[in-house]
Amino acid sequence: MQENKVELGGDWTYAPAPEDKKHVKIEKRYDLFINGKFVKPAKGKYFDTISPSTEEVLSQIAEADEKDVDTAVKAARNAYDKVWKKMPAKERGKYIFRIARMIQERSRELAVIESMNGGKPIRESRDIDVPLAANHFFYYAGWADKLEYAFPGKKPQSLGVVGQIIPWNFPLLMAAWKIAPALATGNTVVLKPAETTSLTALKLAEIIQESGLPDGVVNIVTGHGKTGAAIVNHPLVNKVAFTGSTDVGKIIQKAVAGTNKKVTLELGGKAANIVFEDAPIDQAVEGIVNGIFFNQGHVCCAGSRLFVQEGVAEELIRKLKDRMQTLIVGDPLDKNTDIGAINSKEQLQKIDHYLKLGSEEGAEMYQPSCSIPSKGFFCKPTLFLHASQSHRIVQEEIFGPVLTVQTFRTIEEVVEKANNIPYGLSAGVWTDKGSKIFNLTQNLRAGVIWANTYNKFDPTSPFGGYKESGFGREGGLHGLMPYLELT
Ligand code: ADP
Repeated sequence: MQENKVELGGDWTYAPAPEDKKHVKIEKRYDLFINGKFVKPAKGKYFDTISPSTEEVLSQIAEADEKDVDTAVKAARNAYDKVWKKMPAKERGKYIFRIARMIQERSRELAVIESMNGGKPIRESRDIDVPLAANHFFYYAGWADKLEYAFPGKKPQSLGVVGQIIPWNFPLLMAAWKIAPALATGNTVVLKPAETTSLTALKLAEIIQESGLPDGVVNIVTGHGKTGAAIVNHPLVNKVAFTGSTDVGKIIQKAVAGTNKKVTLELGGKAANIVFEDAPIDQAVEGIVNGIFFNQGHVCCAGSRLFVQEGVAEELIRKLKDRMQTLIVGDPLDKNTDIGAINSKEQLQKIDHYLKLGSEEGAEMYQPSCSIPSKGFFCKPTLFLHASQSHRIVQEEIFGPVLTVQTFRTIEEVVEKANNIPYGLSAGVWTDKGSKIFNLTQNLRAGVIWANTYNKFDPTSPFGGYKESGFGREGGLHGLMPYLELT
């Protein structure tokens, strides 16, 4: 067998392999999806949505104000009372199955638009975001007529209108996470995508319209934070489901305090990825890279704090640096790209601020020698070595391809350090020993803990956080509960 002679350390060059955009149809302008139709916003206002990798304007998106939100919520209430609540659960399930199949049929188009509008590599949107979005609809379609079996001895009842607000890191997948369980449990929906990534949610609106789902059961309103606030504050909204920053999560929690609205919040994270001396080092390196660098670190559960046991620290860091040297930053539509564009100029500025801060705080910065495109919003994958627990780069969520590295000696020490943070969304552990895995799953305050892997998602598995990472679970059987009254 021939030995692999590829040398690490240089700029890896591949011939460009961009995905074709010709089959994709993006309208010049998108209206609001209310009561089964695309309608103009009351004030006639639109804003540009761009491609973060080229900075070109892709389309104009309607800005919904309070009046539009009111129309959408009333349409959802009407659909709930007149149609959806009365429909046999089996029939509801059929619509959800149909939406799942239609997402699969249009998966290529959805993946390309996701990468164009959000900046994530096509490999991610094609192999992760879109298939998982379809899977969430499939999974929850199956539950629609089996709710009494999900909660034996209880009488599950729908809530009414749910207001759902989602961020820009998984635009279509987050819409699926929110809409699929809400429909399966018999609720109707008003959803707002993030202002920078509305396009795939609007494509989903087209799919929903084509699926024949009764008018008003799902309404999609676009806009900025004010639009989101109008949904949260609307008196006819019975439940709010939010994924986004901890700051906005706190505003929402205050807004619903004293009302009868149910709420679930999936907020920020600062996950510890813990590597023990007995771990398979090469696999761990790959898991670390997958956990923080793929998808530009735009994942709330990203493994952004690396803890390495002292005995393997030198070897692991050397291998990690070598692997980083091979990462390709660039065109999200190129299938060779590992790290695409940062979602917006503001986000890139925030990451750059932390890069400066990390060096000022005394951590040692390492970036590979790769080149990055001159146009668009890009950031090199970055390590901060010798980071310490009190550094702000260790304590605060950066939401970019930036990894802090700390070492540890004992399991008690690493548990203490991993937990000593305001967040508790996820964590990773790499070891040969099942007992260590069980020790950590008992002692880490994190909603999701991956063992010898990272960032693995499945619709059957619940996801959610502790502490400032929010509360409530999405996915799996647990994901049905926030949308039901169990009497
Ligand atoms: P991120 O930092 O991930 O962009 P944000 O919390 O700023 O997170 O945004 C997540 C979602 O919340 C977006 O759809 C945004 O428009 C919306 N949003 C922002 N401010 C508010 C608010 N005050 N009330 C409700 N929704 C809001």
